[in-house]
Amino acid sequence: MKVGFVGLGQMGTGMASNLLRAGHEVTVYNRSAGKAEGLREKGARVAARVSEVCDGAAAVFTMLADDAAVEQVVFGENGILASLARGAVHVSSSTISVALSERLDAAHGKAEQGFVAAPVFGRPEAAAAAKLFVVAAGDARMLETVAPLLDAIGQRTFVVSDQPPTANLVKLSGNFLIASVIESLGEAMALVGKGGIDRHQYLDILTSTLFNAPLYKSYGGLIADRKFEPAGFAAPLGLKDVRLTLAAAEALRVPMPIASLVRDRFLTLLARGGERLDWSAIGDLARQEAGGDGGPLGIPRHRSG
Ligand code: NAP
Repeated sequence: MKVGFVGLGQMGTGMASNLLRAGHEVTVYNRSAGKAEGLREKGARVAARVSEVCDGAAAVFTMLADDAAVEQVVFGENGILASLARGAVHVSSSTISVALSERLDAAHGKAEQGFVAAPVFGRPEAAAAAKLFVVAAGDARMLETVAPLLDAIGQRTFVVSDQPPTANLVKLSGNFLIASVIESLGEAMALVGKGGIDRHQYLDILTSTLFNAPLYKSYGGLIADRKFEPAGFAAPLGLKDVRLTLAAAEALRVPMPIASLVRDRFLTLLARGGERLDWSAIGDLARQEAGGDGGPLGIPRHRSG
């Protein structure tokens, strides 16, 4: 299939590469030019502007940082809305707001173009290995058209409904849960670390028993190692997702006190200079606030009386 791809960041590069590997004819565009060169070597056509990726494409993916980037690329002059053929589909994989997804759906509908929301779970390693989990929503016919493309980028596609914004809501709720787990793991590890217990041994106990899930293993490992660079998912993007979760929660009148707390943890991290760190670095704040790890003698002794 003839496919366009806009946004060759940490995630988009792997996804576009897997579309090529699956035999699709892919034209790529990225705002900063240099990032497309690796894909050119793999057989991609490199476009100089957004409108070129739409030329003759049956589907165009966007995998961009945030709402502002997607708005610019879609609604901007010679953007996707103005350039995509009638009947062709915009597949939006960025983690964006429910409100923007509604707007995109309406605008593409009016232009007689298709719109599928297909946000993904999985970090850049999963994107490179075609192991993403895709959460998709949109018109059944459009979903059928893009199914081979979604199969090429992920290990499984979950169709939520025929309303695109529902996929974005599921994705945001998932990222809220991940951020909550990171914060909770960070607090638990600060506690045992201060008590002199080896954090890796503790994580092994957790993940070999009741917490035997990929999330606890991967994020627990990053927190235990305090390995927050290079960022697989940068902290400002983490803040963005919690903010978008809270916006959706406000619109639906759903109180989410833990989401509000986690948002403040991201603000603390960024205020302390964590812009370039992985979002899992909020999992180190509790350790820092506790004054670091305990000494080799274990639980610090407190004087009584
Ligand atoms: P990234 O590495 O920061 O890449 C962001 C991409 O957006 C780059 O191609 C960037 O272009 C482009 N961009 C930003 N602002 C733009 C603008 N105004 N106009 C045009 N292009 C613009 O981010 P990422 O980690 O790939 O994430 C992309 C999306 O996937 C985000 O919505 C994120 O929340 C979501 N996501 C990420 C992960 C993860 O683990 N990383 C997992 C699931 C979902 P330049 O190269 O020119 O800056």
